[in-house]
Amino acid sequence: MSSSLVWFRRDLRVHDHPALWQAMSEGTAFALFVLDSHLLGAPTTGPRRVRFLLESLRQLRERLGQLGVPLLVREGPPEHWVPEVARTLGVVAVHVTADFTPYSRRRDGRVARNLESAGVRFVRHHGALLAPWAWPKVAEAARLPSFTSFYRAVRSATVGHPLGPPPPQRTPGVPADPVPSPASFGADIRLPAGIEPGEMAARARLDRFASERLARYVEARNSLDVDATSGLSQDLHFGLLSPREVAVRCPSAPFVRQLWWREYAHFVLWHRPDLTTRPYRLEFERLPWRQDRASFERWRKGETGFPMVDAAMRELAATGRMPNRLRMLTASFLTKDLLVDWRWGMAHFLHELVDGDVANNTFGWQWAASLGVDAASPFRAFSPARHLERFDPHRDYVRRWLPELCDGSDAYPSPIVDHQEAARRARELWRAAAVGENAC
Ligand SMILES: Cc1cc2nc3c(=O)[nH]c(=O)nc-3n(C[C@H](O)[C@H](O)[C@H](O)COP(=O)(O)OP(=O)(O)OC[C@H]3O[C@@H](n4cnc5c(N)ncnc54)[C@H](O)[C@@H]3O)c2cc1C
Repeated sequence: MSSSLVWFRRDLRVHDHPALWQAMSEGTAFALFVLDSHLLGAPTTGPRRVRFLLESLRQLRERLGQLGVPLLVREGPPEHWVPEVARTLGVVAVHVTADFTPYSRRRDGRVARNLESAGVRFVRHHGALLAPWAWPKVAEAARLPSFTSFYRAVRSATVGHPLGPPPPQRTPGVPADPVPSPASFGADIRLPAGIEPGEMAARARLDRFASERLARYVEARNSLDVDATSGLSQDLHFGLLSPREVAVRCPSAPFVRQLWWREYAHFVLWHRPDLTTRPYRLEFERLPWRQDRASFERWRKGETGFPMVDAAMRELAATGRMPNRLRMLTASFLTKDLLVDWRWGMAHFLHELVDGDVANNTFGWQWAASLGVDAASPFRAFSPARHLERFDPHRDYVRRWLPELCDGSDAYPSPIVDHQEAARRARELWRAAAVGENAC
């Protein structure tokens, strides 16, 4: 009987895992995870995400062990380790869940070539997105479709039913490897309550959301409480849950629409991998970004003198989380009020967020800075004061994160800019860039 290898990446689960099913149905299956030095050593990979990954991996090792599948763990470049492990085990195929980011596509291309030259099949399965096979052909045109056109074209795609875990196999005589500790990667940092790593915890979050909070999702979407929405973004990022299972278990149109926004962000980056460094609307390449380290530091530390912005940035620093509404506000503030390069903010978010995800984060930043496809209006800078009035009328949120606002001291800084004036300047700069004038 033949054997094959499942190379796990951002699919750290045993439920609804077509690649694992296929490998186990073909004969004896082995599992591999490569601690990719390129990703783990990247400046945008923060310790919270590393910890979340390693602890989720430890749980995956146990879950796979219950299915009789030993998990091997290697550290270094996948293009070396995947063919090497395949050769040592004598497998005929390597199965993966297809990934769509620019780096993973390049990496998989290299691994596939190395495997194929050794006569081993490299087989990609779906499982990271809802229905990438339904992504409309129209994307091949020079301009990508708006979200609405994309959504219209894909929403009726047959997503199918989630699979349970495959039945166990007889354990092959290869022992599983230990998973390194977070401390050995400098990631000995506490994770916030409510986002425990691992597939079991993610499934419990999904159960709770589906039964207790889904019905109130529309009101919760703008809430400043990160626990009011599903809180599943890190689970989707690391593949502790499949988007298909989340969609089937939470069949409410406004919620599933958000999963399609996630799909759209991946679709956009798939077609335009350069968007991690360049605006989608190239006319905005001429915006005169300020390389202003001092303003960036005040934004990063939550010391701009705008309570709504500062509270959000302090929450991010303390927990690695931030509600969507405040991600939009803080990104708009950095780019439109402070005119600091959007790429600085994007890299900072990616480093700090537990759910940091190159597709969603790039999309979110290009959206908030009005640079992207289907983005916020270039003539709008979100108002921190209006956000405070509308979304935190009793100041519960800002008091939680800015104790100096209530302790009677004068420690809280005065505003870094005049928002009205900054918004007016931003409108003028974006307008000038859009029509090709030099506004410097
Ligand atoms: C500047 C900026 C940066 C962002 N960076 C990230 C990031 O690094 N990682 C990330 O997962 N999301 C990012 N988002 C999108 C969004 O803020 C988060 O997905 C959401 O806050 C996560 O909370 P939740 O799981 O409770 O979301 P819910 O509201 O419960 O939504 C369910 C799921 O839908 C997806 N989703 C929701 N909103 C969006 C959106 N606007 N774009 C794409 N997918 C969405 C997420 O996978 C989310 O888990 C960013 C948004 C902005 C404006």
